[in-house]
Amino acid sequence: MSLLSVVVPCYNEEEAIPYFYEEMQKVRGVFGEKYPDVAFELLFIDDGSSDQTLRVIRELRQKDDSVHYVSFSRNFGKEAGIYAGLKHSKGDLVVLMDADLQDPPALLPEMYEAIVKEGYDSAATRRVTRKGEPPIRSFFARCFYRLINKMSKTEIVDGARDYRIMTRTMVNAILEMCEYNRFTKGIYSWVGFRTKWIAYENIERVAGETKWSFWKLLLYSIEGITAFSTAPLRFASLMGFLFTILAFVMILFIVIRKLISGDPTPGWPSMVCIIVFIGGIQLFCIGILGEYLSKTYLETKKRPIYITKEEE
Ligand code: UDP
Ligand code: MG
Repeated sequence: MSLLSVVVPCYNEEEAIPYFYEEMQKVRGVFGEKYPDVAFELLFIDDGSSDQTLRVIRELRQKDDSVHYVSFSRNFGKEAGIYAGLKHSKGDLVVLMDADLQDPPALLPEMYEAIVKEGYDSAATRRVTRKGEPPIRSFFARCFYRLINKMSKTEIVDGARDYRIMTRTMVNAILEMCEYNRFTKGIYSWVGFRTKWIAYENIERVAGETKWSFWKLLLYSIEGITAFSTAPLRFASLMGFLFTILAFVMILFIVIRKLISGDPTPGWPSMVCIIVFIGGIQLFCIGILGEYLSKTYLETKKRPIYITKEEE
């Protein structure tokens, strides 16, 4: 008998969870026929929802013994939900899945086979289209992936979802990374292991609405870059170096011109432009430093990644 844990982070998903459970039951039926020795554990992580999500989960728990849940004391974010889910899961294999059915449970048998038949350590999914998403968001998403892959040695796959199945060994490796600023997409790739990628077309969520505003995504992308690359810090030093050389050349130029022709240098407006420009770059670089410093600050506090209010 082997146990398959399905971890589902939920934040205000009261409408989606019943659909999700129904789909999951179908997949369990499929497994029951093909792999009768696989038992399931459904682990819902209620990420401090403000709607009836927890009640819906409790009701499921009452009628189905394989349902478990952890409820947070407030909203800690999906990354914290994933961490808690991995930590509480007991399965030999663990699957992460969204509650909104954007991660089709029907792919699960294929993902399972990648591990038990093909010997991968993990099977992950990526969407090949971004159908149903605002074009501007897709554009920025693509820019982000191009940028981060240039800046970081850790490969971050474009369109990769959090939907993936992992062996216990890989889960334990991820749990060992107990950093506070979690960018799971990078963490998966950082820990290594052999991953099979399964592509599928984007599916729109079944009910409720996305929790990601453009602003949240932007902050998340900065999180991703600072968590897996220190290239921006190098950018600051490089800029400083270039400007020093430039200034040196300019000083030489002005001194020599003064010696040869003797005229005072005009150009008050251009001077102001240069000061503002360099001032801007300096502030930008200080901002980059601040970004890393604040991350370091939060890491050194060693705050817990999440706080449990209730679990069963
Ligand atoms: N989620 C969460 N905590 C949050 C935000 C989202 O646990 O603070 C969950 C959410 O309930 C869903 C999954 O993460 O199961 C993905 O969220 P969403 O569908 O809003 O993101 P999208 O699919 O639009 O990227
Ligand atoms: Mg979604």
